Amino acid sequence: MTRAIRKQILLTATYLLLIALFVGGGLYLKQNPISWTTWASRRDAEPESTYMPYDPAAASTVTVSGEGAAATAGAASKTALSRFHTTARASVFTFSGLGSEAELDGVLKALKDSGSTATFFVTAEELARNADQIHRIRDAGQSLGISVQPKEKSSVQQLLAEINEAAEILRSEYAVREEIFVRQAYGNPGSAMLKASDQGGFRVLTELKEGVPDSAARMSSADEALEAVFTEDEGALQRGEIVHFQMGLFQYDDTLLGSLVEKVLTEKCVYPVVSAAKLAENPESMYAYPVPADSILPAVRDQVYPGHLAGKTPEEVFEVIRSGYLGINWVNSRLFLPGFSDTEIGRLDHNGLVPDAENLVFLTFDDWGTDATVDALLQVLEKHGATATFFVRTQFVENNPNLLRAIAEAGHTIGDHTHRHLPLSNEDSATSFSELSEEQRQELEDDLVESYQTMQKVIGDLKDRQGKPSLSLLFRPPTLAVGRNGLETVFDCGFTHAVSGFYTTSDYKATDAQSLAKTMKPLVRSGAVFVMHFSDNAVYTAEAVDLLLTELEEKGSEFRFVGLNEVW
Ligand SMILES: [Zn+2]
Repeated sequence: MTRAIRKQILLTATYLLLIALFVGGGLYLKQNPISWTTWASRRDAEPESTYMPYDPAAASTVTVSGEGAAATAGAASKTALSRFHTTARASVFTFSGLGSEAELDGVLKALKDSGSTATFFVTAEELARNADQIHRIRDAGQSLGISVQPKEKSSVQQLLAEINEAAEILRSEYAVREEIFVRQAYGNPGSAMLKASDQGGFRVLTELKEGVPDSAARMSSADEALEAVFTEDEGALQRGEIVHFQMGLFQYDDTLLGSLVEKVLTEKCVYPVVSAAKLAENPESMYAYPVPADSILPAVRDQVYPGHLAGKTPEEVFEVIRSGYLGINWVNSRLFLPGFSDTEIGRLDHNGLVPDAENLVFLTFDDWGTDATVDALLQVLEKHGATATFFVRTQFVENNPNLLRAIAEAGHTIGDHTHRHLPLSNEDSATSFSELSEEQRQELEDDLVESYQTMQKVIGDLKDRQGKPSLSLLFRPPTLAVGRNGLETVFDCGFTHAVSGFYTTSDYKATDAQSLAKTMKPLVRSGAVFVMHFSDNAVYTAEAVDLLLTELEEKGSEFRFVGLNEVW
């Protein structure tokens, strides 16, 4: 496709959008879900979270219900996938829009140099006109898919015929034996497109991220483009994330796309980059998201809801709290435990040591992070045969369910750290806290239910190595000062333990790994719970854990580092 034609298509698209919005409006969009509004807004959208990439699919009008069914390898899709639901350590690159030879050369070189594979989506028109380029892509070991742009009146049958014809050419002339994916050239795939693909047994891909900014036409460096697409704190690409690169958008210099691809590969990827077909060859890492209701373990299903303490006397309620709360040494007075009497405070735990846990040590990690941070930590734990407990701040999970699933699949205990990081008390000053207002308490209650449901959707079917549910009923309070009505709300919602710890490392303030490991080492003892973080600001945590465990192993230490599921 030449630039002129592409430009024409975009102009037509804009014109159609205006007609749709101002003339036929809602009716048009309702009847024809090819959503130009989403196309426009997705490409202008800025990431809004400091933790993870903005998820355009979540904000778009693409149908996402039932996506789980399509996540199983080989199944056709009734929805488009902007990511694969997989725990495989891999991200996916896709390309479309053949044109400049030099641009294609640069892209193929960047992929080859890094040992990456990608999926190049080609249209019927390109199959007819750009056979040389398509052969070069194939000869370079890259994968091919089918790009389709439905016309306003394209029927399901017409689209299916077009897709089947293109697939036949890919199989016969380009020896494609792997799964062939379909992509809509512009805009989100509409219902005719999805139906046609479904009938033909093809899965439709979109992308979580557009790798080339709209403003590429006036850019003269790959760095500029990289900055426009990736915010500084966005972190690495996710497992299963699909990044799409539109070719032909850089107008200054057709070597820029190759440089950009190289930069994304070296600066933004912690996982190998593979084609969609290559990832799909790995079905054991795939899962259905959301986890189908009938796959959720009975011991997990909807366990968190208010009312668990109903009918109990105040003494019985206190006993539930006392037996389920693992404290921490500095939380030892009414200042940090508002709402409790001195006598009750005397009976609450202040040690943070799990009883009857001989030679067991518990590393716990709070909050949430991006793939580079979390994968580094997972690799260290794996290297030492250690498991740990991850207390998840769940508001970010929907943006990266694969990462939560990967943590759980690695055998770690998953606990709850609220959805929005709501504390269990109010901080009136650095050393004085008060109980939650009724409004805050209610907000916490709703938050806890939402938080658990969010994780149930991702890991509700998983068991750890002992056969216990990976999703535990363990809770870590954000800020360890805990008010009585806050703690009561946690137990009333069905959590079995509220876990502070033996030592809070403040690892996010560490200036190097050595001193962090050195501080922890003399504190290692039976039952000790260490409070750490898996957030991106905990820069030295993975390295410190590696140093600590290595040193203990070299000494022949008896201690085993395990998740709290091992004892609770
Ligand atoms: Zn926290």
